[in-house]
Amino acid sequence: MKPTAVKAKQGLVMVITGNGKGKTTSAFGQALRAVGQGYRVCIIQFMKGRKYGEVLAVERHLPGITIHQFGRDSFVMRDDIASVDVELARQGLEKAKEVLGNGEYDLVILDEINAAVDFNLILEEELLDLVKTKPAELDLILTGRSAPGQLKEIADLVSEVIEIKHHYNAGVTERAGIEY
Ligand code: ATP
Ligand code: MG
Repeated sequence: MKPTAVKAKQGLVMVITGNGKGKTTSAFGQALRAVGQGYRVCIIQFMKGRKYGEVLAVERHLPGITIHQFGRDSFVMRDDIASVDVELARQGLEKAKEVLGNGEYDLVILDEINAAVDFNLILEEELLDLVKTKPAELDLILTGRSAPGQLKEIADLVSEVIEIKHHYNAGVTERAGIEY
């Protein structure tokens, strides 16, 4: 039987998690692909305030991608969370609600939001509620280690990056263009 109408694009919920390196860079690769196809892309970064290479590249070369950062210039310490870390994560969550609801984007990436939940900056329930408000046609990517189990259940795609080896363990750390 022939379909009677063309089905509207079904947006996806995609989760990229795991301990290996390649989650954020994978999401940015997806942003690159999407913007090349004319998508309007918004990336919200949690717990990050540094001018990473990907942020600089977007600012210089990719006007179709909008990035908002909600984090300090330094690492968030799990056992020493500062009130500003919580405040910035809350602001990021509010911005995420806004960009999911304002109709201005086709792809939204919430970078490190899984980690923000793991660090108790955002409640798991708040994250799940947010995902449930996603407009049907919008694509949504959530990155970060330790994605909550219920998020993985409701997602359309879950990829786990497994660490087999990392150069960090051989003392190679903080390389510009590789790490940041
Ligand atoms: P990337 O941003 O390179 O894609 P990621 O998003 O998968 O990495 P995060 O957990 O967000 O990984 O950590 C970001 C930073 O930590 C990067 O500088 C990355 O190289 C480094 N990193 C990622 N995985 C590991 C690991 N298994 N051991 C040590 N450092 C890591
Ligand atoms: Mg990352």
